[in-house]
Amino acid sequence: MATHIDQKTEVYDCPICIGGEWRPSSGRRETLVNPATREPITTVPYCTREEVGAAVDSAQAAFESWRQVPVVERAHVFFRYRELLLKHTEEIARLMTLEHGKTLDESRASLGRGIETVEFATSVPTLLMGDTTADISRGVDTVTVRQPIGACVGIPPFNFPAMVPMWMYPLAIACGNSFVLKPSERVPRTAIRLIELLYEAGLPRGVCNIVHGTKDVVDALLEDPRVKAVSFVGSSPVARSIYETAGRRGKRVQAMGGAKNHLVVMPGCDLSAAVKAIVGAAYGCTGQRCLATSVVVAVGSVADALIDELKKAASHIAVGSGDNPKTGIGPVVNAAAQERIERYIDEGEKEGARLVADGRKARAHDGTQGYYVGATIFDHVRPEMRIAREEIFGPVLSVMRAKDLDEAVGVINGSEFGNATSIFTGSGAEGREFAARVQSGMVGVNVGVPAPSAFFPFAGWKGSFYGDLHALGRDAVQFYTETKVVTSRWPTPTREHKITF
Ligand code: NAD
Repeated sequence: MATHIDQKTEVYDCPICIGGEWRPSSGRRETLVNPATREPITTVPYCTREEVGAAVDSAQAAFESWRQVPVVERAHVFFRYRELLLKHTEEIARLMTLEHGKTLDESRASLGRGIETVEFATSVPTLLMGDTTADISRGVDTVTVRQPIGACVGIPPFNFPAMVPMWMYPLAIACGNSFVLKPSERVPRTAIRLIELLYEAGLPRGVCNIVHGTKDVVDALLEDPRVKAVSFVGSSPVARSIYETAGRRGKRVQAMGGAKNHLVVMPGCDLSAAVKAIVGAAYGCTGQRCLATSVVVAVGSVADALIDELKKAASHIAVGSGDNPKTGIGPVVNAAAQERIERYIDEGEKEGARLVADGRKARAHDGTQGYYVGATIFDHVRPEMRIAREEIFGPVLSVMRAKDLDEAVGVINGSEFGNATSIFTGSGAEGREFAARVQSGMVGVNVGVPAPSAFFPFAGWKGSFYGDLHALGRDAVQFYTETKVVTSRWPTPTREHKITF
């Protein structure tokens, strides 16, 4: 079943994938629109409990044989998968832009990050290596072995239709697990195409399954005792509830939540580099990014010059359809998101922050009638304001002023979230102190977005993460495997009695 985007005139009905077979769901459907044009493009089903059960049956059955496939052969599937993803990059990027709204460059870049996780998964023969101690006792050797845990589930958010699911299933499957993916009900098509290609790369039937829906489907997955591990990425209230429910039922769970990310600008930094980075970090992906900078803390004398430069830069960013090369800010995902973001801008004004750039009623440079919100800047924001505390998830930047680094660190550590934070400074000592003191999972020094890389663990702190083992890197290898310690005694007569050198 193909997800080709050239069928623009047709509304694509998302299939489910069970046992490697693509078929329509019997659940009710909702229609999704292209957020840049509001034209219907997709119907997404809400799967029945029976369909969810069938997906877990399939994952459970496939696990028994997939776990026995030699690890080097499992890695080969991902070598072939990488080639297919590279070959189809443009098609997948266009599909992502069609259903999500991000600019084509953003779609390509985020798919590139996803492909990096596949590259990481190809090194699974090395990643699964254990430890060995020979002769831990006379004639006794001890080794650790990493074994897959069973059927795993992935529940990603809407904002990265390819990259976030790819934090989950490639490594889980390469480690020998089977998988049930429930894509975001707002952007289901990209995930479908990704899994079609995974089967084309030679994945045996049933190892990866797809169901659609939201809370009811997730509840059914969490209730199933055959599901051994849950990887969730989304908003904090849902992350917390999934962590608690899955944990109570004895499942392994990692639940990445929301964010409110601060970027500190110190006097003496390279201001033009800081402004460029802030614009990218605040408005890239239309601010719909868990690593988006949403609060700048301007320290000391730097604030006025910074605001002038930010205002200038923001006024040059064109709002429009993501597939137009002149567009800097694409639409937000749907009407509800646009309304929520605009309500926050209203609220910021009411709370007394100074609105320097107003993205409400932004007009697209290309005449499209999408869900647009333009680059927005508030100055003189105070820590107690809602726009300073709550995740807005749109292109809205709040600028606070602090007298020194100490006060700036206090603001960051006072946040309920701790996903990412950055500093722009000309002083190594300031950068070092900042990195040591901030309570955040990802820290950037002279870097706008301290973006995750497949090779390092990724998660936030505090209300941005519920769990222990992070996504990506060696943490993810541990998350998707159990450690077994095997102690063997094979005494040799000579060594058992006496060793002489
Ligand atoms: P969301 O929480 O609404 O949905 C995330 C997933 O959970 C979706 O698949 C959805 O179908 C499912 N879901 C929604 N409500 C549910 C419920 N009550 N019970 C069970 N499942 C439910 O999040 P979203 O709006 O899709 O994504 C945006 C959020 O994701 C933001 O808060 C953003 O910061 C966060 N995010 C975090 C990271 C991270 O790494 N920390 C990365 C990307 C996005």
